[in-house]
Amino acid sequence: MSCTDSILGIEGLEVQRVDRGPIIHVWAKPKRRLDCIYCLQSPVRIKATHDRTLKHTRQGNQLMVLHVRVPKYHCLNCDRYFRHPIQGIRPRHRATECFRLEVFEAHDGGVSQRKLSVTHQIGSATVERWYQYHVKKRVSELSGRSCPLILGIDEHFFSRKQGYATTLVDLRNHKVFDVVLGRSEPSLRRYLTRLQGRERVQFVVMDLSETYRQIVQKYFPNAKIISDRFHVVRLVNHHFLKLWQQQDPVGRKNRGLLSLMRRHRWRLSEEQKINLGKYLDQYPILRSLYFAKQQLNTLLLVKHVRAKHAKKKLIKLTQLISQFAQSPAKTLAETLQSWLEPIVRMWRFSKSNGITEGFHTKMEMMSRRAFGFRNFENYRLRVLAHCGWNGVINRV
Ligand SMILES: [Zn+2]
Repeated sequence: MSCTDSILGIEGLEVQRVDRGPIIHVWAKPKRRLDCIYCLQSPVRIKATHDRTLKHTRQGNQLMVLHVRVPKYHCLNCDRYFRHPIQGIRPRHRATECFRLEVFEAHDGGVSQRKLSVTHQIGSATVERWYQYHVKKRVSELSGRSCPLILGIDEHFFSRKQGYATTLVDLRNHKVFDVVLGRSEPSLRRYLTRLQGRERVQFVVMDLSETYRQIVQKYFPNAKIISDRFHVVRLVNHHFLKLWQQQDPVGRKNRGLLSLMRRHRWRLSEEQKINLGKYLDQYPILRSLYFAKQQLNTLLLVKHVRAKHAKKKLIKLTQLISQFAQSPAKTLAETLQSWLEPIVRMWRFSKSNGITEGFHTKMEMMSRRAFGFRNFENYRLRVLAHCGWNGVINRV
């Protein structure tokens, strides 16, 4: 490959003439005659040639148009016909693969169809078509990957018509593994039974949802469930606010008090502590509930604990739960008791569904930018292409 030929970046082509106007025109042809692609014998004759005009990558803000003379061969040995295949140029396309990739990458990075149709001189429908083509290619590159070892499961809203979807996230690699329409066992059954390598999953992080717990126990037999810290703390706070409502409906509506009650104890200043103390003195039951809740939250926020320490903390936690069981917070105690194991596991790990929630925000933005998706499959392709893929599309 000579210097001028290598600028084209297409193997096997020889540049014959270059015309640099407002558009760069390059005339090229294959360097040598090929052997027969069917019988691999050499004597082929050129039956005809045809000219192909293709858009190629832009150079210095100028569009490059490639004119290639492509020979059509006839094999004298096996009497078959074939065209000269050129790497990076696919049959019937009017742009090289490099050019299509360039358009895709620009559009993916946020350049609008309108702008691209000016700079690259293609229609906006073409930009859309090429975009879809590459998104599909990205997703197909993902199809062979195996089930993640640490899985995050959560639901998110898809559309008013089709309802909720379930997100499966690879928490170790910070990638969306898949999105599936539905959040109940019957709607996920088909997907989950076909899922390859389910038994490899070691841990599943999820919120305190009974449906998901049953799904995980059924379809991921070797996985241990870890509850998500954020959701557990939220559940506790939610229950506490309800109890407060029962004890003192007027005080519950006071925004200043609400802010003090919700905060962690260590975030309060001395003055705020005194103010809160004065209020709580009027309601002894609420007072004891408040302090129990604070203790519980402190316990729940612990992470990276060794097994020995976890045992000590477990004793404390069970004591607190039994204390709650005797109080008006009976339902909370029951829920915590039934999720005791996943909550205790939470101490040993730092993984949480924060990543999953972050992806949900990103997916929401994608959905909004597209003015909503009607077709779930298109949505899934888009999500996987943006949140699940981490490589380079192989040129050609
Ligand atoms: Zn042949």
